[in-house]
Amino acid sequence: NNKNEIISLNKKAIDIFSLSSDYKDRDLRLLDIAPKTVKEMSTVNKTRIKSIFFEQIGSRIYKIEVAPLEFEKIKKEDNYPSVASILIDVTEEYNADKMKKDFVANASHELKSPITSILGYSQLISEGLIEDKIEKEAKRMSKIVFNLLRLSSIENNQLRTIGRINLEKGIKDLVESIRLQIEKKDLEVDIDIPTDMEIKMNEMDFQDLFLNLIDNAVKYNKEGGRISIKADKKENFVAIEDNGIGISKENLSRIFERFYRVDKARSRKDGGTGLGLSIAKYVASYYGYSLDVTSTLGVGTKFTCYFESKDNEIK
Ligand code: ADP
Repeated sequence: NNKNEIISLNKKAIDIFSLSSDYKDRDLRLLDIAPKTVKEMSTVNKTRIKSIFFEQIGSRIYKIEVAPLEFEKIKKEDNYPSVASILIDVTEEYNADKMKKDFVANASHELKSPITSILGYSQLISEGLIEDKIEKEAKRMSKIVFNLLRLSSIENNQLRTIGRINLEKGIKDLVESIRLQIEKKDLEVDIDIPTDMEIKMNEMDFQDLFLNLIDNAVKYNKEGGRISIKADKKENFVAIEDNGIGISKENLSRIFERFYRVDKARSRKDGGTGLGLSIAKYVASYYGYSLDVTSTLGVGTKFTCYFESKDNEIK
């Protein structure tokens, strides 16, 4: 009411405001964890104009509606103008929305930097041999756009044809497709996969998942390093292990985030987009597989994909 007394609160509101149950007739300003709500309630009580706003209370975000109550004359003793507040917990929507906004901001930024380079280089083109730089940046852009489209196709659960893929052959084909980079770094690749192990997947998804992992094992390896790709039919997993640069503990928890790279300059030089692992993770989860990672800085990294989904049991 307009004397700032709390007339009534439901149980949930008592929880939200962390109050004890003897709130009745006590000062509204008891709700000191929600200063905006308190202020709005007293303003609405004066103006009699409804107000809608957002406030964070504790760790949750609420959409709050404060409206003047029009039946205050029913009881004589409560004959004061009063207001009611309704709180709607919108934390999930808020976080999802924030993620989307961050994503768009990151994507735009990532696309802006190669474009700026391209424009810069094309101004200089008359002066010398810099076409290759333009080509490199344009390729990077096209890779980012391609990866963004892949991500959105998985996110939107676009229909895909699913077939049986022989794991050994599939992996060997992928390794073959990047043979040049492997030889450039003089890497040794060991493949140990049961010849009759099959998984059910869409071919593009298979490539998105495993080429990203194998490609990283190459990119983030040392000269003369090793990569081991091992699968186990009984335990139903495939693991891709390298003895490359490794990832520190702080970074390990973030590598699946979109556009996250431990060393931006290095990734960019190698044509990385920071989207590979988020795509791999998404693909794995689409099939109900899990993708785990362990790593030690300076020692190496191991990604393990468990094909544990029920409908992919290999008979
Ligand atoms: P990028 O296009 O930069 O390779 P990814 O999403 O594939 O993007 O990987 C994100 C980051 O995780 C990389 O930039 C790199 O810092 C780190 N990373 C991924 N795989 C490995 C690996 N096998 N060894 C060391 N670091 C890795």
